[in-house]
Amino acid sequence: MLQRIVVNPTQIVPPVVYFTAEQRHYLSRVLRLQEGDRVIVMDGQGYSWLVQLVHPSHADLQAEILEAIACQTELPIAITLVMALPKGNAFDEVVRQVTELGVSCIAPVISDRTLLHPSLQKLERWRRIAQEAAEQSERQIVPTIQEPISFQEHLNTLPTTELSVSPHYLCVTRHTAPHLLDCLHSLPLSPLLSLTVAIGPEGGWTEVEVERAIATGYQPVSLGDRILRTVTAPVVALSLIAAVLESSLNEEAG
Ligand code: SAM
Repeated sequence: MLQRIVVNPTQIVPPVVYFTAEQRHYLSRVLRLQEGDRVIVMDGQGYSWLVQLVHPSHADLQAEILEAIACQTELPIAITLVMALPKGNAFDEVVRQVTELGVSCIAPVISDRTLLHPSLQKLERWRRIAQEAAEQSERQIVPTIQEPISFQEHLNTLPTTELSVSPHYLCVTRHTAPHLLDCLHSLPLSPLLSLTVAIGPEGGWTEVEVERAIATGYQPVSLGDRILRTVTAPVVALSLIAAVLESSLNEEAG
Protein backbone atom coordinates (compact mmCIF):
# COMPACT_ATOMS: atom_id res chain seq x y z
CA MET A 1 0.00 0.00 0.00
CA LEU A 2 1.29 3.46 -0.89
CA GLN A 3 2.26 5.85 1.85
CA ARG A 4 0.02 8.93 2.19
CA ILE A 5 1.21 12.36 3.18
CA VAL A 6 -0.78 15.55 3.77
CA VAL A 7 0.81 18.77 2.49
CA ASN A 8 -0.30 22.36 2.57
CA PRO A 9 -2.09 23.25 -0.72
CA THR A 10 0.54 25.98 -1.31
CA GLN A 11 3.19 23.22 -1.62
CA ILE A 12 1.44 21.89 -4.73
CA VAL A 13 2.65 23.76 -7.80
CA PRO A 14 1.76 21.43 -10.70
CA PRO A 15 3.57 19.44 -11.90
CA VAL A 16 5.72 19.65 -8.76
CA VAL A 17 5.02 19.07 -5.07
CA TYR A 18 7.54 20.76 -2.75
CA PHE A 19 8.09 19.17 0.67
CA THR A 20 9.01 20.90 3.91
CA ALA A 21 12.27 19.96 5.67
CA GLU A 22 10.26 17.89 8.17
CA GLN A 23 8.45 16.04 5.37
CA ARG A 24 11.72 15.45 3.48
CA HIS A 25 13.22 13.96 6.63
CA TYR A 26 10.15 11.77 7.17
CA LEU A 27 10.06 10.48 3.57
CA SER A 28 13.77 9.89 3.03
CA ARG A 29 15.11 9.09 6.51
CA VAL A 30 12.15 7.61 8.39
CA LEU A 31 10.39 5.80 5.52
CA ARG A 32 13.64 5.37 3.54
CA LEU A 33 11.93 6.19 0.25
CA GLN A 34 14.11 6.89 -2.78
CA GLU A 35 13.95 8.58 -6.17
CA GLY A 36 11.29 6.88 -8.30
CA ASP A 37 9.22 5.73 -5.32
CA ARG A 38 5.57 6.71 -5.39
CA VAL A 39 3.44 8.18 -2.63
CA ILE A 40 -0.01 9.72 -2.42
CA VAL A 41 -0.04 13.43 -1.66
CA MET A 42 -3.23 14.84 -0.10
CA ASP A 43 -4.03 18.53 0.27
CA GLY A 44 -6.32 17.80 3.26
CA GLN A 45 -9.17 19.61 1.52
CA GLY A 46 -10.49 16.82 -0.67
CA TYR A 47 -7.86 16.32 -3.39
CA SER A 48 -5.19 13.64 -3.76
CA TRP A 49 -2.48 12.93 -6.31
CA LEU A 50 -0.23 9.99 -7.12
CA VAL A 51 3.31 11.42 -7.19
CA GLN A 52 6.81 10.15 -7.84
CA LEU A 53 9.76 11.26 -5.74
CA VAL A 54 12.57 13.02 -7.56
CA HIS A 55 16.00 14.26 -6.40
CA PRO A 56 16.17 12.00 -3.37
CA SER A 57 19.02 13.80 -1.62
CA HIS A 58 17.81 14.97 1.76
CA ALA A 59 18.19 18.63 0.83
CA ASP A 60 16.02 18.89 -2.27
CA LEU A 61 13.56 16.00 -2.24
CA GLN A 62 10.41 16.90 -4.12
CA ALA A 63 7.83 15.05 -6.21
CA GLU A 64 6.37 15.06 -9.68
CA ILE A 65 2.61 14.71 -10.02
CA LEU A 66 1.69 11.63 -12.08
CA GLU A 67 -2.10 11.80 -11.84
CA ALA A 68 -5.00 13.05 -9.76
CA ILE A 69 -6.67 10.33 -7.73
CA ALA A 70 -10.44 10.09 -7.80
CA CYS A 71 -11.43 8.35 -4.62
CA GLN A 72 -14.32 9.00 -2.28
CA THR A 73 -14.11 7.99 1.35
CA GLU A 74 -15.84 11.00 2.87
CA LEU A 75 -19.30 11.03 4.44
CA PRO A 76 -21.93 12.76 2.27
CA ILE A 77 -22.42 15.69 4.68
CA ALA A 78 -20.17 17.56 7.10
CA ILE A 79 -20.32 16.27 10.67
CA THR A 80 -19.21 18.46 13.58
CA LEU A 81 -18.37 17.07 17.00
CA VAL A 82 -18.77 19.61 19.80
CA MET A 83 -17.09 18.14 22.84
CA ALA A 84 -16.52 19.37 26.37
CA LEU A 85 -12.82 18.74 26.96
CA PRO A 86 -12.17 15.62 29.04
CA LYS A 87 -9.41 15.38 31.67
CA GLY A 88 -5.72 14.72 30.93
CA ASN A 89 -4.80 13.55 27.43
CA ALA A 90 -8.10 11.76 26.80
CA PHE A 91 -9.01 14.16 23.98
CA ASP A 92 -6.04 12.87 21.91
CA GLU A 93 -7.73 9.50 21.47
CA VAL A 94 -11.12 11.12 20.78
CA VAL A 95 -9.56 13.20 17.96
CA ARG A 96 -7.93 10.10 16.47
CA GLN A 97 -11.03 7.91 16.63
CA VAL A 98 -13.61 10.42 15.38
CA THR A 99 -11.26 11.35 12.52
CA GLU A 100 -11.19 7.68 11.53
CA LEU A 101 -15.00 7.67 11.70
CA GLY A 102 -15.35 10.61 9.29
CA VAL A 103 -15.87 13.78 11.36
CA SER A 104 -15.23 17.04 9.45
CA CYS A 105 -14.90 19.50 12.30
CA ILE A 106 -14.07 19.13 15.98
CA ALA A 107 -15.08 21.98 18.26
CA PRO A 108 -13.66 21.55 21.77
CA VAL A 109 -15.64 23.51 24.33
CA ILE A 110 -15.19 24.45 27.95
CA SER A 111 -18.38 23.67 29.82
CA ASP A 112 -19.35 24.47 33.42
CA ARG A 113 -17.88 21.18 34.63
CA THR A 114 -14.81 21.06 32.36
CA LEU A 115 -11.65 20.66 34.37
CA LEU A 116 -9.05 21.09 31.61
CA HIS A 117 -8.04 24.50 30.22
CA PRO A 118 -5.82 23.62 27.29
CA SER A 119 -2.64 25.31 26.12
CA LEU A 120 -1.87 26.31 22.52
CA GLN A 121 0.47 23.30 22.28
CA LYS A 122 -2.49 20.99 22.90
CA LEU A 123 -4.31 22.48 19.91
CA GLU A 124 -1.26 21.93 17.68
CA ARG A 125 -0.97 18.37 19.00
CA TRP A 126 -4.65 17.63 18.24
CA ARG A 127 -4.22 19.01 14.71
CA ARG A 128 -1.20 16.75 14.16
CA ILE A 129 -3.13 13.74 15.46
CA ALA A 130 -6.06 14.53 13.12
CA GLN A 131 -3.66 14.75 10.18
CA GLU A 132 -2.03 11.39 11.00
CA ALA A 133 -5.42 9.74 11.49
CA ALA A 134 -6.72 11.17 8.19
CA GLU A 135 -3.66 9.80 6.36
CA GLN A 136 -4.01 6.43 8.06
CA SER A 137 -7.73 6.08 7.34
CA GLU A 138 -7.32 7.21 3.71
CA ARG A 139 -9.56 10.25 4.01
CA GLN A 140 -9.52 13.11 1.54
CA ILE A 141 -9.93 15.82 4.13
CA VAL A 142 -8.25 16.51 7.43
CA PRO A 143 -10.85 17.57 10.00
CA THR A 144 -10.64 21.14 11.20
CA ILE A 145 -10.01 21.51 14.92
CA GLN A 146 -11.32 24.80 16.23
CA GLU A 147 -9.82 26.75 19.09
CA PRO A 148 -11.56 25.89 22.37
CA ILE A 149 -14.29 28.32 23.41
CA SER A 150 -16.84 28.23 26.22
CA PHE A 151 -19.99 26.20 25.57
CA GLN A 152 -22.01 29.37 26.06
CA GLU A 153 -19.98 31.17 23.35
CA HIS A 154 -20.59 28.20 21.07
CA LEU A 155 -24.36 28.46 21.69
CA ASN A 156 -24.22 32.19 20.92
CA THR A 157 -22.78 31.45 17.47
CA LEU A 158 -25.36 28.84 16.42
CA PRO A 159 -26.96 29.69 13.06
CA THR A 160 -30.54 29.07 14.23
CA THR A 161 -32.06 29.73 10.79
CA GLU A 162 -30.30 26.71 9.35
CA LEU A 163 -31.28 24.19 12.02
CA SER A 164 -33.79 22.36 9.81
CA VAL A 165 -31.06 21.44 7.31
CA SER A 166 -28.35 21.23 9.92
CA PRO A 167 -29.68 19.39 13.00
CA HIS A 168 -27.83 19.74 16.32
CA TYR A 169 -28.00 16.86 18.81
CA LEU A 170 -27.07 17.18 22.47
CA CYS A 171 -26.20 13.82 24.04
CA VAL A 172 -27.72 13.73 27.51
CA THR A 173 -27.93 11.12 30.23
CA ARG A 174 -30.75 10.68 32.74
CA HIS A 175 -33.32 12.40 30.50
CA THR A 176 -36.20 10.87 28.61
CA ALA A 177 -34.70 11.79 25.27
CA PRO A 178 -35.20 9.84 22.02
CA HIS A 179 -32.36 7.62 20.89
CA LEU A 180 -29.96 9.29 18.42
CA LEU A 181 -30.50 6.37 16.03
CA ASP A 182 -34.29 6.95 15.92
CA CYS A 183 -33.72 10.68 15.27
CA LEU A 184 -31.32 9.89 12.43
CA HIS A 185 -33.74 7.42 10.87
CA SER A 186 -36.51 10.01 10.84
CA LEU A 187 -34.35 12.67 9.15
CA PRO A 188 -35.16 13.61 5.58
CA LEU A 189 -31.74 13.01 4.05
CA SER A 190 -32.01 15.01 0.85
CA PRO A 191 -32.02 18.64 2.06
CA LEU A 192 -29.57 17.82 4.86
CA LEU A 193 -26.43 19.99 4.72
CA SER A 194 -24.61 19.14 7.91
CA LEU A 195 -25.08 17.64 11.34
CA THR A 196 -23.67 18.47 14.79
CA VAL A 197 -23.45 16.28 17.85
CA ALA A 198 -22.39 17.52 21.31
CA ILE A 199 -20.90 15.42 24.13
CA GLY A 200 -20.57 16.59 27.74
CA PRO A 201 -17.65 16.28 30.20
CA GLU A 202 -17.05 13.54 32.80
CA GLY A 203 -19.50 15.18 35.19
CA GLY A 204 -22.12 15.68 32.46
CA TRP A 205 -23.83 18.88 31.28
CA THR A 206 -25.43 21.03 33.97
CA GLU A 207 -29.22 21.43 33.81
CA VAL A 208 -28.71 25.10 32.88
CA GLU A 209 -26.48 24.12 29.95
CA VAL A 210 -29.05 21.57 28.75
CA GLU A 211 -31.85 24.17 28.96
CA ARG A 212 -29.80 26.82 27.13
CA ALA A 213 -28.76 24.38 24.43
CA ILE A 214 -32.37 23.29 23.84
CA ALA A 215 -33.46 26.94 23.73
CA THR A 216 -30.83 27.55 21.05
CA GLY A 217 -32.00 24.69 18.86
CA TYR A 218 -30.20 21.59 20.12
CA GLN A 219 -32.29 18.44 20.31
CA PRO A 220 -31.53 16.24 23.36
CA VAL A 221 -30.77 12.62 22.44
CA SER A 222 -29.81 9.41 24.20
CA LEU A 223 -27.11 6.95 23.25
CA GLY A 224 -28.78 4.11 25.15
CA ASP A 225 -29.58 3.15 28.72
CA ARG A 226 -26.03 2.79 29.96
CA ILE A 227 -23.78 5.72 30.93
CA LEU A 228 -20.84 5.78 28.55
CA ARG A 229 -17.45 7.23 29.41
CA THR A 230 -16.81 10.67 27.97
CA VAL A 231 -14.35 9.18 25.49
CA THR A 232 -16.70 6.35 24.46
CA ALA A 233 -19.75 8.54 23.81
CA PRO A 234 -18.37 10.43 20.74
CA VAL A 235 -17.25 7.16 19.16
CA VAL A 236 -20.72 5.65 19.60
CA ALA A 237 -22.43 8.80 18.28
CA LEU A 238 -20.13 9.09 15.25
CA SER A 239 -20.46 5.37 14.48
CA LEU A 240 -24.26 5.64 14.43
CA ILE A 241 -24.17 8.76 12.26
CA ALA A 242 -21.67 7.30 9.78
CA ALA A 243 -23.60 4.01 9.56
CA VAL A 244 -26.94 5.71 8.86
CA LEU A 245 -25.48 8.13 6.30
CA GLU A 246 -23.53 5.42 4.49
CA SER A 247 -26.35 2.89 4.45
CA SER A 248 -28.77 5.53 3.08
CA LEU A 249 -26.23 6.36 0.39
CA ASN A 250 -25.95 2.69 -0.57
CA GLU A 251 -29.76 2.41 -0.71
CA GLU A 252 -29.92 5.45 -3.02
CA ALA A 253 -27.17 4.01 -5.24
CA GLY A 254 -28.83 0.55 -5.33
N1 SAM B 1 -22.37 11.52 35.54
C1 SAM B 1 -22.61 12.06 34.22
C2 SAM B 1 -24.09 12.15 33.92
O1 SAM B 1 -24.84 11.45 34.56
O2 SAM B 1 -24.47 12.87 33.01
C3 SAM B 1 -21.93 11.19 33.21
C4 SAM B 1 -21.48 11.94 32.04
S1 SAM B 1 -20.86 10.95 30.74
C5 SAM B 1 -19.45 10.22 31.47
C6 SAM B 1 -20.16 12.19 29.69
C7 SAM B 1 -21.02 12.58 28.52
O3 SAM B 1 -21.14 11.50 27.60
C8 SAM B 1 -22.43 13.00 28.83
O4 SAM B 1 -22.52 14.36 29.24
C9 SAM B 1 -23.15 12.77 27.51
O5 SAM B 1 -22.93 13.84 26.61
C10 SAM B 1 -22.43 11.54 26.98
N2 SAM B 1 -23.11 10.29 27.30
C11 SAM B 1 -22.62 9.24 28.01
N3 SAM B 1 -23.52 8.24 28.05
C12 SAM B 1 -24.60 8.66 27.38
C13 SAM B 1 -25.87 8.08 27.06
N4 SAM B 1 -26.18 6.86 27.46
N5 SAM B 1 -26.73 8.81 26.33
C14 SAM B 1 -26.42 10.05 25.91
N6 SAM B 1 -25.25 10.66 26.18
C15 SAM B 1 -24.34 9.98 26.90
